[in-house]
Amino acid sequence: MRILLIGPPGAGKGTQAARLAAHLSIPHISTGDLFREHIDQGTELGQNALTHIRGGFLVPDEVTTGVIKECLARPDTERGFLLDGFPRNLAQAKALDGILADSESRLDAVLDLEIPEDQVVSRIAGRRLCRQDREHIFHVDYSPPEVAGVCGFCGGELYQRDDDREATVRRRLEVYRTETAPVVDHYQAQGLVTTISALGQVHEVLNRALVAIGRGQVDASGTSS
Ligand code: ADP
Repeated sequence: MRILLIGPPGAGKGTQAARLAAHLSIPHISTGDLFREHIDQGTELGQNALTHIRGGFLVPDEVTTGVIKECLARPDTERGFLLDGFPRNLAQAKALDGILADSESRLDAVLDLEIPEDQVVSRIAGRRLCRQDREHIFHVDYSPPEVAGVCGFCGGELYQRDDDREATVRRRLEVYRTETAPVVDHYQAQGLVTTISALGQVHEVLNRALVAIGRGQVDASGTSS
């Protein structure tokens, strides 16, 4: 399956994308994670991306689209993929349409995660990521690790993202409203969008997503039924 996950910062895209992709055995491609990897490795691309990410702005389209094009050319995406954080504006959506048309493939579904804005800031302010695996995501109140500051999956150190400060979050929300929301309309016109509430427990949101794409259910432990 070829799936897009769209939603404002703090909707839980990364958390859901990791679980959905594992459930469907398809690669999870997150532009945010790809940029953070480049930043950690100190690449030129990473240094360029960081100047935009720190301010809560989008990384320029030619950089972002280049990164995605490279990912979608990999053989492991032939059976499908889950895109998280791309496309984030109309130009990127059109670029993706072109990339898919070139390989004679198409999207199967666009999942639009919806969350009231007042929830976003508290979700993001408490978010902590694992330094060893960015798919290990915690929240100091909503899903705290057993030992503060330590990843419950692998023992890695937990940290707060640079762009998760309140002023930057507000800018990211503004960018979402003006640039990314039109992407949802773009795919709505193609009949691909299902809107899903991002409220509730992680497995409840995951089940909404699975129902939307016509795939089973999981229980609270994440086991399929
Ligand atoms: P969130 O969804 O919580 O905002 P992400 O990890 O998806 O977090 O993205 C973090 C930042 O990386 C964005 O605020 C933006 O600066 C940059 N970024 C990620 N994806 C894109 C994209 N498709 N186009 C431009 N910039 C992007």
